[in-house]
Amino acid sequence: MRKILVLLVLSSLCVLVKAQDISYVREKAAMLSSADMKGRGYVGNGLAQAAAYIASSYKEAGLNPLGEGYFQPFTQQVNVFPGAVEVKVEDMVLMPGKDYLVDPASPSHQGLYRAKVYDGNNLRAIPNPMLFKEQCADCILVLDMNAVEEEDIKERARQIKEMFSSIVPVIWMSDEKLAWSVADEQRGFPVLEMNNGYIVDNAFIAMDIEADLRKDFLADNVIAKVEGTQYPDSFMVFTAHYDHLGMMGEEATFLGANDNASGVSVMLSLAKYYAENPQPCTMVFIAFAGEEAGLVGSKYFVDHPSIDLKAIRLLVNLDLMGSGVEGIMVVNGKENPKVMKILQKENDTQGYLPKVGQRSQSANSDHYYFAEAGVPAVFIYALGGSSAYHDIFDVYENLTFEEYPDIFRLLTHLSESY
Ligand SMILES: [Zn+2]
Repeated sequence: MRKILVLLVLSSLCVLVKAQDISYVREKAAMLSSADMKGRGYVGNGLAQAAAYIASSYKEAGLNPLGEGYFQPFTQQVNVFPGAVEVKVEDMVLMPGKDYLVDPASPSHQGLYRAKVYDGNNLRAIPNPMLFKEQCADCILVLDMNAVEEEDIKERARQIKEMFSSIVPVIWMSDEKLAWSVADEQRGFPVLEMNNGYIVDNAFIAMDIEADLRKDFLADNVIAKVEGTQYPDSFMVFTAHYDHLGMMGEEATFLGANDNASGVSVMLSLAKYYAENPQPCTMVFIAFAGEEAGLVGSKYFVDHPSIDLKAIRLLVNLDLMGSGVEGIMVVNGKENPKVMKILQKENDTQGYLPKVGQRSQSANSDHYYFAEAGVPAVFIYALGGSSAYHDIFDVYENLTFEEYPDIFRLLTHLSESY
């Protein structure tokens, strides 16, 4: 009888712990995607603030650093927009992030131009760049891509854009969703990506753009561990990138709630759980920087590992974890059948998620360089929910964490039975 009572108390405690986790995940995601973190990028100390917050979360949850401290510093080259980003068409001031994006490789530039609009379906009408400039020194090339459907025409237009942007500014006008990114170089002149309907031939375009190519921007991977009780030299690793795109000027902030405050928060909840429930192996948690700039932080770790890569039993990278209402996708799942078998069997038995899908290896997140180095590594992202991506609409309010409890159970099951 007493045994049964003890078991009952224990199991209700477990339920309590797991039930609390969702508010923990929400709290972490809200903080990481708050305006204070400035899009966890390259303006206003946003990235460093996020790194400090993650380290203090590890500490609060009782995790130890892997080496001397929680931070693994590295430098990266990155083009940043710390000041003015202003574009006017005639008298209308456009909204940065909403009406247009500055191509991430754009340089600083001020100027007043006249629009020369060319139909994307008639690219042959465009003169060569030198002639274009000769004919009109204060003209800006506007590629009207709204009516273009064929992929090879788009490709040709992109080549023209690249060619022209070393000679004059270019505007790419289309009805495609705006999605920003990060560049580690500058082109000759700015390129603006714009949604349709703003520019007619001969319209006046004024721009004031401030960009700064930072040669050695300092970033940190943030790393912690829970020491294994039996096999401390064998590692199970969870990772998630905490960097996002930062700010495009002083107004447009890319808060990156789903990408990837969500994944970091799920990782932190796992860190907290394993600090309370140590495993036979050492559990390692890595929040990577530089992912959006081309997997720079995870590549740095693989090149300068603070644990023996060969001793990693499995690495699970989490990115875009805000929903899961349509299930999860496992990138590199095809190459890791054991992972798929464990996840799918448990999911089928428990009826957690509508789908546990798999894809082949792809260089689309921080698992990539580990897998290339021979580490069993998968990248899991959640399906369904908001379609905001790399835009100013990827905000905390869109995160439902609807399937978080089931995803959490699947992830702990995977790491404990792999
Ligand atoms: Zn991401």
